[in-house]
Amino acid sequence: MAKPMEEYKWHELNVGCVIEEVGNAREYKTGDWRSFKPVWNNEKCIKCGLCWLYCPDATVFKTNEGFYLSNLDYCKGCGICAKECKPGAIKMVEEGR
Ligand code: SF4
Ligand code: SF4
Repeated sequence: MAKPMEEYKWHELNVGCVIEEVGNAREYKTGDWRSFKPVWNNEKCIKCGLCWLYCPDATVFKTNEGFYLSNLDYCKGCGICAKECKPGAIKMVEEGR
């Protein structure tokens, strides 16, 4: 397991910042600088899957009921899912911090 990013010192990084531990991106949550997040309204959703298809971060996943949600640990809040959703089932709302 890789250690938390803030514990790395510059001289510990590999030349060229080569990552030797395959799959360690899973340990780093990259959604915490997001300012907007998508909120789904399943009453409007027609289960077309376009939000899943267009999400550039592959954070959208299908629920057991066949609807969709985003894993907010990695969602960047870009709003592409909401833009591509033709029935308007996704609304971007400001993060409450
Ligand atoms: S794009 Fe909109 S309608 Fe299609 S699955 Fe996603 S939320 Fe539902
Ligand atoms: S806001 Fe962007 S990153 Fe987040 S789920 Fe929608 S398309 Fe993916």
